[in-house]
Amino acid sequence: MRNNKAAASAVRSVTVLGATGSIGDSTMDLLRGARDRYRVEALTANGNVEALAKLAKEFGARFAAIGDPAKLAALKDALAGTRIECGAGESAIIEAAARPADWVMAAVSGAAGLKPALAAVDRGASVALANKECLVCAGDFFMERAKKAGACILPADSEHNALFQALGSGNREELVRVIITASGGPFRTWAPADIEQATLEQALKHPNWSMGQKITIDSASMMNKGLEVIEASYLFALSPDEIDVLVHPQSIIHGMVEFSDRSVMAQLGTPDMRIPIAHCLGWPDRIVGPSARLDLAKIGQLTFEVPDFARFPGLRLAYEALRTGKGATTVFNAANEVAVAAFIAGKIKFGAIARLVEATMNDWIRTGNRSPLQSADDAISVDHVARNRAAALLPQIALKAT
Ligand code: NDP
Ligand code: MG
Repeated sequence: MRNNKAAASAVRSVTVLGATGSIGDSTMDLLRGARDRYRVEALTANGNVEALAKLAKEFGARFAAIGDPAKLAALKDALAGTRIECGAGESAIIEAAARPADWVMAAVSGAAGLKPALAAVDRGASVALANKECLVCAGDFFMERAKKAGACILPADSEHNALFQALGSGNREELVRVIITASGGPFRTWAPADIEQATLEQALKHPNWSMGQKITIDSASMMNKGLEVIEASYLFALSPDEIDVLVHPQSIIHGMVEFSDRSVMAQLGTPDMRIPIAHCLGWPDRIVGPSARLDLAKIGQLTFEVPDFARFPGLRLAYEALRTGKGATTVFNAANEVAVAAFIAGKIKFGAIARLVEATMNDWIRTGNRSPLQSADDAISVDHVARNRAAALLPQIALKAT
């Protein structure tokens, strides 16, 4: 057991990027329960001025940043009479990340989270990484930059946090494979023809987790699990063959690591994002978490299934992108973001999400300049190219009969 006394007494400064989102909300909830241990340096949001200002005032943040430049005046108004500094636009979000906080939660959604997360990484902070797109889009160099700067990347995604905890039981040479679990989402038992026609309302009904809209749709398509396979590969330097996915509808075991002696270490917990976030917040110690305790007797049974690639082609595409490398995972993510936005807007059927991603990836492999990505600008440029290609392919995918 560790000796926690020294760390427990120090007040740590924290910044939450994406404070008004689902992960942000869980993080703020944990901070609310440990006011004596944490001081808030900066908070950010994209458009939700009211919620951002409310949080900034509640926590006495030193800086609040809003992504939408048109909302600066509204943010200034909302913070009038306080000593909280504020800013707007991408540069202000980056400034929030660059300000001196010991610990940063990177929970902006989408590829927009990359530059701010890098700003925190480059100054050697402890970065709790919820934004998986950082690794999916920029895995070629993200972890290297962190290593160079001495930043500590703490995986906040539940499966990766589980692996992070279990990996401590052995060393790299002893590792055989990791297993990340998937609930299977709302369409786990649906026939492919029904999944094809699924509505937005049906896709948003996740059986276990309460999350933001984009990731909930990604869970229904299992694109989220695909993104997580890629995330695990970059985070822990694993080959695609060392990462398995297991469907586990109860979402109690989040990740497992198999070692050479055939021991399998697993992390368990109720499906509540405050558990992995609390682990990141307390690390290397553990804080007292507010989540429900795990009652296995009440749950009764834990079941497992092999994922069905025919039902969930997004998972197959993620492995393909990972094997292709050199920007392919960036393309996979960008095309998926375009596809999900089109699905939400009612422009394509649910089943067309994976078809658009596959068509964009194939198009990029045929015509793209495939060299390793070296910088955020490289990653963002591949991301833009892929988005444009996906948007151009969208009408024909939308029309295609299945
Ligand atoms: P939400 O959509 O709930 O929240 C996103 C947050 O980012 C909000 O604060 C939003 O501000 C802000 N934001 C969105 N776009 C921008 C932008 N362009 N510039 C600056 N800020 C922006 O997302 P989640 O909390 O669900 O997810 C956040 C990240 O964590 C994602 O990468 C997701 O994949 C990952 N993740 C989420 C999990 C979950 O349980 N929710 C689990 C594991 C990983 P505003 O409110 O003003 O729009
Ligand atoms: Mg996850």
